[in-house]
Amino acid sequence: MAVEFKKIGNTASILNPMNAFQEDRQSTEIRFDPLTGVKRLFNAGLTEKAKMFYQPTDENLIEMIVNKTKETCIFCPQNLEKVTPKFPPDILPEGRFRKGDSWVFPNLFQIYEVTAIGIIGKDHFLKTDEFSPEMLKNSFGTFIDFFQTINSRRPELKYAIFGMNYLPPAASSQIHPHNQIYMSKNPFYYVDWMMRESKAYLDRKSKNFWHDLIETEKELGERYVGKTGNVEWIASFAPMASNEFVGILPERSNYFEYDDKDLDGISEGLTRILSFYKRDLKMGSFNFILYSGPLGDKSDSFRASVKVATRPNFNANYMSDIHFAPLFNMENWFENVPEYLAGRLKNYF
Ligand SMILES: [Zn+2]
Repeated sequence: MAVEFKKIGNTASILNPMNAFQEDRQSTEIRFDPLTGVKRLFNAGLTEKAKMFYQPTDENLIEMIVNKTKETCIFCPQNLEKVTPKFPPDILPEGRFRKGDSWVFPNLFQIYEVTAIGIIGKDHFLKTDEFSPEMLKNSFGTFIDFFQTINSRRPELKYAIFGMNYLPPAASSQIHPHNQIYMSKNPFYYVDWMMRESKAYLDRKSKNFWHDLIETEKELGERYVGKTGNVEWIASFAPMASNEFVGILPERSNYFEYDDKDLDGISEGLTRILSFYKRDLKMGSFNFILYSGPLGDKSDSFRASVKVATRPNFNANYMSDIHFAPLFNMENWFENVPEYLAGRLKNYF
Protein backbone atom coordinates (compact mmCIF):
# COMPACT_ATOMS: atom_id res chain seq x y z
CA MET A 1 0.00 0.00 0.00
CA ALA A 2 1.34 3.41 -0.98
CA VAL A 3 0.35 5.38 2.12
CA GLU A 4 0.54 3.81 5.56
CA PHE A 5 -2.40 4.29 7.93
CA LYS A 6 -0.93 3.53 11.34
CA LYS A 7 -3.29 2.68 14.18
CA ILE A 8 -2.93 0.93 17.51
CA GLY A 9 -5.87 -0.79 19.21
CA ASN A 10 -6.08 -0.78 22.99
CA THR A 11 -8.48 -1.58 25.82
CA ALA A 12 -9.03 0.00 29.22
CA SER A 13 -11.32 -1.27 32.00
CA ILE A 14 -13.34 0.34 34.77
CA LEU A 15 -15.84 -1.09 37.26
CA ASN A 16 -18.93 0.75 36.09
CA PRO A 17 -21.32 2.09 38.78
CA MET A 18 -24.09 2.27 36.15
CA ASN A 19 -23.89 -1.52 35.79
CA ALA A 20 -23.52 -2.76 39.41
CA PHE A 21 -19.75 -2.21 39.24
CA GLN A 22 -19.31 -4.92 36.64
CA GLU A 23 -16.19 -4.71 34.51
CA ASP A 24 -16.70 -2.32 31.60
CA ARG A 25 -14.00 -3.06 29.03
CA GLN A 26 -13.68 -0.23 26.52
CA SER A 27 -11.90 -0.38 23.17
CA THR A 28 -9.78 2.59 22.26
CA GLU A 29 -7.69 3.38 19.23
CA ILE A 30 -4.69 5.58 18.55
CA ARG A 31 -4.25 6.86 15.00
CA PHE A 32 -1.44 8.82 13.41
CA ASP A 33 -1.85 11.28 10.55
CA PRO A 34 -0.26 9.57 7.52
CA LEU A 35 1.64 12.76 6.55
CA THR A 36 2.60 14.55 9.79
CA GLY A 37 2.26 11.72 12.33
CA VAL A 38 0.01 13.86 14.58
CA LYS A 39 -1.60 11.52 17.13
CA ARG A 40 -5.39 11.27 17.52
CA LEU A 41 -7.49 9.06 19.81
CA PHE A 42 -10.82 7.33 19.41
CA ASN A 43 -13.30 5.51 21.64
CA ALA A 44 -16.43 4.42 19.79
CA GLY A 45 -18.25 4.38 23.15
CA LEU A 46 -17.90 8.16 23.33
CA THR A 47 -20.77 8.43 20.84
CA GLU A 48 -23.15 8.02 23.79
CA LYS A 49 -21.31 10.63 25.86
CA ALA A 50 -21.28 12.98 22.87
CA LYS A 51 -25.08 12.74 22.70
CA MET A 52 -25.23 14.13 26.26
CA PHE A 53 -22.62 16.80 25.51
CA TYR A 54 -23.91 17.91 22.11
CA GLN A 55 -27.38 19.09 23.00
CA PRO A 56 -29.54 20.06 20.01
CA THR A 57 -29.01 23.51 18.53
CA ASP A 58 -31.19 26.09 20.30
CA GLU A 59 -32.94 27.44 17.16
CA ASN A 60 -35.02 29.91 19.22
CA LEU A 61 -31.89 31.40 20.74
CA ILE A 62 -30.35 31.82 17.28
CA GLU A 63 -33.53 33.44 15.95
CA MET A 64 -33.58 35.81 18.92
CA ILE A 65 -29.94 36.83 18.32
CA VAL A 66 -30.52 37.20 14.57
CA ASN A 67 -33.48 39.54 15.17
CA LYS A 68 -31.71 41.48 17.91
CA THR A 69 -28.59 42.14 15.83
CA LYS A 70 -30.22 42.70 12.42
CA GLU A 71 -30.35 46.50 12.61
CA THR A 72 -27.02 47.13 14.31
CA CYS A 73 -24.92 44.45 12.55
CA ILE A 74 -21.59 45.99 11.51
CA PHE A 75 -21.28 43.53 8.59
CA CYS A 76 -24.71 44.28 7.08
CA PRO A 77 -24.79 46.57 3.99
CA GLN A 78 -26.47 49.51 5.81
CA ASN A 79 -23.61 49.78 8.36
CA LEU A 80 -20.53 48.17 6.83
CA GLU A 81 -19.07 51.26 5.14
CA LYS A 82 -19.76 53.47 8.15
CA VAL A 83 -18.21 51.39 10.90
CA THR A 84 -15.71 48.82 9.62
CA PRO A 85 -11.97 49.64 9.57
CA LYS A 86 -10.06 50.46 6.38
CA PHE A 87 -6.60 49.40 5.24
CA PRO A 88 -3.95 52.14 5.20
CA PRO A 89 -3.10 53.45 1.67
CA ASP A 90 0.23 51.58 1.42
CA ILE A 91 -1.67 48.27 1.69
CA LEU A 92 -4.92 49.15 -0.13
CA PRO A 93 -5.52 52.77 -1.26
CA GLU A 94 -9.26 52.17 -1.68
CA GLY A 95 -9.48 51.14 2.00
CA ARG A 96 -11.74 48.12 1.56
CA PHE A 97 -11.78 45.44 -1.15
CA ARG A 98 -15.11 44.64 -2.77
CA LYS A 99 -16.57 42.43 -5.49
CA GLY A 100 -20.37 42.43 -5.59
CA ASP A 101 -21.68 41.52 -2.13
CA SER A 102 -18.32 40.16 -0.92
CA TRP A 103 -16.05 42.50 1.03
CA VAL A 104 -12.61 42.34 2.63
CA PHE A 105 -11.57 44.86 5.32
CA PRO A 106 -9.22 44.79 8.33
CA ASN A 107 -10.12 43.12 11.59
CA LEU A 108 -10.08 45.65 14.47
CA PHE A 109 -7.40 43.54 16.14
CA GLN A 110 -4.32 42.53 14.17
CA ILE A 111 -2.34 39.33 14.69
CA TYR A 112 -0.64 38.84 11.33
CA GLU A 113 0.68 41.55 8.96
CA VAL A 114 -2.78 41.45 7.38
CA THR A 115 -5.62 40.21 9.59
CA ALA A 116 -8.88 40.76 7.75
CA ILE A 117 -12.56 39.90 7.66
CA GLY A 118 -14.14 38.57 4.47
CA ILE A 119 -17.89 39.06 4.19
CA ILE A 120 -19.63 36.26 2.28
CA GLY A 121 -22.70 38.28 1.22
CA LYS A 122 -25.43 40.66 2.32
CA ASP A 123 -27.59 38.08 4.15
CA HIS A 124 -27.40 38.73 7.88
CA PHE A 125 -27.75 35.05 8.75
CA LEU A 126 -27.63 31.77 6.87
CA LYS A 127 -28.52 28.38 8.32
CA THR A 128 -25.93 25.65 7.85
CA ASP A 129 -27.76 24.27 4.82
CA GLU A 130 -28.52 27.69 3.30
CA PHE A 131 -25.03 28.40 1.96
CA SER A 132 -25.18 28.08 -1.83
CA PRO A 133 -22.18 27.04 -3.93
CA GLU A 134 -22.46 30.38 -5.83
CA MET A 135 -22.23 32.40 -2.60
CA LEU A 136 -19.15 30.54 -1.42
CA LYS A 137 -17.54 30.64 -4.87
CA ASN A 138 -18.05 34.40 -5.22
CA SER A 139 -16.63 35.14 -1.80
CA PHE A 140 -13.67 32.72 -2.16
CA GLY A 141 -12.91 34.30 -5.56
CA THR A 142 -13.00 37.76 -3.94
CA PHE A 143 -10.64 36.71 -1.14
CA ILE A 144 -8.16 35.26 -3.66
CA ASP A 145 -8.38 38.45 -5.78
CA PHE A 146 -7.65 40.39 -2.58
CA PHE A 147 -4.54 38.23 -2.02
CA GLN A 148 -3.47 38.92 -5.65
CA THR A 149 -3.85 42.66 -5.14
CA ILE A 150 -1.97 42.80 -1.84
CA ASN A 151 0.73 40.34 -2.96
CA SER A 152 1.43 42.38 -6.13
CA ARG A 153 2.21 45.39 -3.90
CA ARG A 154 3.78 43.54 -0.98
CA PRO A 155 5.36 40.38 -2.46
CA GLU A 156 6.92 39.49 0.91
CA LEU A 157 3.39 38.70 2.15
CA LYS A 158 3.38 35.39 0.32
CA TYR A 159 1.76 33.26 3.01
CA ALA A 160 -2.02 33.51 2.98
CA ILE A 161 -4.87 31.55 4.49
CA PHE A 162 -8.58 31.93 4.99
CA GLY A 163 -11.31 30.00 6.73
CA MET A 164 -14.56 30.28 8.58
CA ASN A 165 -15.88 30.19 12.15
CA TYR A 166 -19.65 29.64 12.20
CA LEU A 167 -21.58 30.58 15.38
CA PRO A 168 -20.08 31.08 18.87
CA PRO A 169 -19.11 27.39 19.48
CA ALA A 170 -16.75 27.75 16.49
CA ALA A 171 -15.45 31.01 18.04
CA SER A 172 -17.41 33.46 15.90
CA SER A 173 -18.53 36.61 17.70
CA GLN A 174 -20.68 37.89 14.80
CA ILE A 175 -23.75 36.10 13.48
CA HIS A 176 -23.31 37.56 9.95
CA PRO A 177 -21.53 34.94 7.75
CA HIS A 178 -17.89 35.91 7.30
CA ASN A 179 -14.41 34.44 6.89
CA GLN A 180 -11.13 35.20 8.60
CA ILE A 181 -8.33 36.17 6.18
CA TYR A 182 -4.63 36.30 7.01
CA MET A 183 -1.46 37.24 5.15
CA SER A 184 2.04 37.08 6.53
CA LYS A 185 5.69 36.99 5.56
CA ASN A 186 6.08 34.06 7.97
CA PRO A 187 4.70 30.60 7.11
CA PHE A 188 1.65 29.23 8.92
CA TYR A 189 2.73 26.48 11.26
CA TYR A 190 0.71 23.46 10.12
CA VAL A 191 0.87 24.33 6.41
CA ASP A 192 4.64 24.61 6.72
CA TRP A 193 4.78 21.24 8.51
CA MET A 194 2.66 19.59 5.78
CA MET A 195 4.92 21.15 3.12
CA ARG A 196 8.10 19.83 4.77
CA GLU A 197 6.63 16.33 5.12
CA SER A 198 5.31 16.39 1.52
CA LYS A 199 8.81 17.27 0.28
CA ALA A 200 10.39 14.54 2.45
CA TYR A 201 7.88 11.99 1.05
CA LEU A 202 8.71 12.99 -2.54
CA ASP A 203 12.46 12.78 -1.82
CA ARG A 204 12.05 9.38 -0.14
CA LYS A 205 9.64 7.70 -2.57
CA SER A 206 9.86 9.81 -5.76
CA LYS A 207 6.08 10.06 -5.56
CA ASN A 208 3.61 12.76 -4.57
CA PHE A 209 2.08 12.04 -1.14
CA TRP A 210 -1.28 13.59 -2.04
CA HIS A 211 -1.63 11.54 -5.22
CA ASP A 212 -0.71 8.41 -3.25
CA LEU A 213 -3.20 9.34 -0.52
CA ILE A 214 -6.10 9.74 -2.98
CA GLU A 215 -5.14 6.52 -4.79
CA THR A 216 -4.84 4.52 -1.57
CA GLU A 217 -8.10 5.88 -0.14
CA LYS A 218 -9.89 5.04 -3.40
CA GLU A 219 -8.49 1.50 -3.34
CA LEU A 220 -9.50 0.97 0.29
CA GLY A 221 -12.91 2.57 -0.25
CA GLU A 222 -13.45 3.01 3.52
CA ARG A 223 -13.06 6.78 3.79
CA TYR A 224 -13.17 8.02 0.18
CA VAL A 225 -16.40 9.97 -0.37
CA GLY A 226 -16.41 11.32 -3.94
CA LYS A 227 -15.43 14.12 -6.26
CA THR A 228 -16.88 17.58 -6.94
CA GLY A 229 -15.22 19.12 -10.00
CA ASN A 230 -11.47 18.81 -9.41
CA VAL A 231 -11.75 18.17 -5.66
CA GLU A 232 -11.43 14.70 -4.09
CA TRP A 233 -13.23 14.37 -0.73
CA ILE A 234 -12.12 11.97 2.04
CA ALA A 235 -13.10 11.47 5.69
CA SER A 236 -9.87 12.24 7.60
CA PHE A 237 -8.11 9.13 8.97
CA ALA A 238 -6.66 11.07 11.93
CA PRO A 239 -8.82 14.22 12.15
CA MET A 240 -7.96 17.48 13.93
CA ALA A 241 -11.63 18.04 14.87
CA SER A 242 -14.96 16.17 14.98
CA ASN A 243 -16.60 14.78 11.85
CA GLU A 244 -13.79 16.07 9.68
CA PHE A 245 -13.55 15.82 5.90
CA VAL A 246 -10.72 16.92 3.66
CA GLY A 247 -11.03 17.97 0.01
CA ILE A 248 -7.80 17.69 -1.98
CA LEU A 249 -7.01 19.55 -5.21
CA PRO A 250 -4.68 17.00 -6.83
CA GLU A 251 -3.07 19.45 -9.29
CA ARG A 252 -2.97 22.68 -7.25
CA SER A 253 -0.55 23.83 -4.58
CA ASN A 254 -1.65 27.44 -3.87
CA TYR A 255 -4.58 29.85 -4.30
CA PHE A 256 -3.08 31.58 -7.34
CA GLU A 257 -3.38 28.35 -9.37
CA TYR A 258 -7.13 28.02 -8.75
CA ASP A 259 -9.42 28.35 -11.74
CA ASP A 260 -13.19 28.62 -11.95
CA LYS A 261 -13.70 24.86 -11.88
CA ASP A 262 -11.57 24.51 -8.73
CA LEU A 263 -13.69 27.11 -6.91
CA ASP A 264 -16.85 25.38 -8.15
CA GLY A 265 -15.61 22.04 -6.82
CA ILE A 266 -14.63 23.42 -3.41
CA SER A 267 -17.90 25.33 -2.98
CA GLU A 268 -20.09 22.47 -4.17
CA GLY A 269 -18.36 19.95 -1.88
CA LEU A 270 -18.49 22.27 1.14
CA THR A 271 -22.21 22.99 0.78
CA ARG A 272 -22.96 19.26 0.50
CA ILE A 273 -20.95 18.55 3.66
CA LEU A 274 -22.65 21.42 5.55
CA SER A 275 -26.06 20.01 4.58
CA PHE A 276 -24.92 16.56 5.74
CA TYR A 277 -23.81 18.03 9.10
CA LYS A 278 -27.20 19.66 9.65
CA ARG A 279 -29.55 17.02 8.27
CA ASP A 280 -27.73 13.81 9.09
CA LEU A 281 -25.47 14.48 12.09
CA LYS A 282 -27.73 17.25 13.50
CA MET A 283 -24.65 19.40 14.05
CA GLY A 284 -25.07 23.15 13.55
CA SER A 285 -21.68 24.77 14.08
CA PHE A 286 -18.52 24.33 12.02
CA ASN A 287 -15.07 25.55 11.04
CA PHE A 288 -13.37 25.23 7.68
CA ILE A 289 -10.00 26.21 6.28
CA LEU A 290 -8.61 26.39 2.74
CA TYR A 291 -4.93 25.41 3.01
CA SER A 292 -2.56 26.95 0.46
CA GLY A 293 1.18 26.83 -0.16
CA PRO A 294 3.07 30.14 -0.64
CA LEU A 295 1.27 32.36 -3.17
CA GLY A 296 2.42 31.89 -6.76
CA ASP A 297 5.02 29.30 -5.74
CA LYS A 298 4.14 26.07 -7.56
CA SER A 299 5.17 23.01 -5.57
CA ASP A 300 5.73 19.53 -6.98
CA SER A 301 5.27 17.88 -3.57
CA PHE A 302 2.57 19.82 -1.65
CA ARG A 303 -1.10 20.03 -2.64
CA ALA A 304 -3.77 22.55 -1.60
CA SER A 305 -6.76 21.24 0.34
CA VAL A 306 -9.89 22.18 2.26
CA LYS A 307 -10.67 20.93 5.75
CA VAL A 308 -14.08 21.14 7.42
CA ALA A 309 -15.30 19.88 10.81
CA THR A 310 -18.17 20.30 13.26
CA ARG A 311 -18.19 22.08 16.62
CA PRO A 312 -20.68 21.73 19.50
CA ASN A 313 -24.24 22.89 18.86
CA PHE A 314 -25.10 26.42 19.95
CA ASN A 315 -26.90 26.80 23.27
CA ALA A 316 -27.18 29.64 25.76
CA ASN A 317 -23.85 30.92 27.05
CA TYR A 318 -21.81 28.66 24.84
CA MET A 319 -18.57 30.31 23.71
CA SER A 320 -15.31 28.87 22.46
CA ASP A 321 -11.85 30.37 22.10
CA ILE A 322 -10.70 27.73 19.61
CA HIS A 323 -11.24 29.20 16.16
CA PHE A 324 -9.99 27.74 12.91
CA ALA A 325 -6.40 29.04 13.27
CA PRO A 326 -5.51 27.06 16.43
CA LEU A 327 -7.73 24.17 15.37
CA PHE A 328 -6.44 23.58 11.84
CA ASN A 329 -3.17 25.52 11.78
CA MET A 330 -1.95 24.99 15.37
CA GLU A 331 -1.46 28.75 15.74
CA ASN A 332 -2.89 29.92 19.07
CA TRP A 333 -3.37 33.57 20.00
CA PHE A 334 -3.51 35.06 23.50
CA GLU A 335 -4.20 38.42 25.04
CA ASN A 336 -2.13 38.24 28.25
CA VAL A 337 1.61 37.79 27.73
CA PRO A 338 3.33 35.49 30.30
CA GLU A 339 5.48 38.40 31.60
CA TYR A 340 2.29 40.28 32.52
CA LEU A 341 0.80 37.16 34.16
CA ALA A 342 3.95 36.49 36.21
CA GLY A 343 3.98 40.12 37.37
CA ARG A 344 0.36 39.93 38.51
CA LEU A 345 0.64 36.46 40.10
CA LYS A 346 3.65 37.60 42.19
CA ASN A 347 1.18 39.48 44.42
CA TYR A 348 -0.24 36.09 45.48
CA PHE A 349 3.15 34.60 46.36
ZN1 LIG B 1 -25.44 41.39 9.33
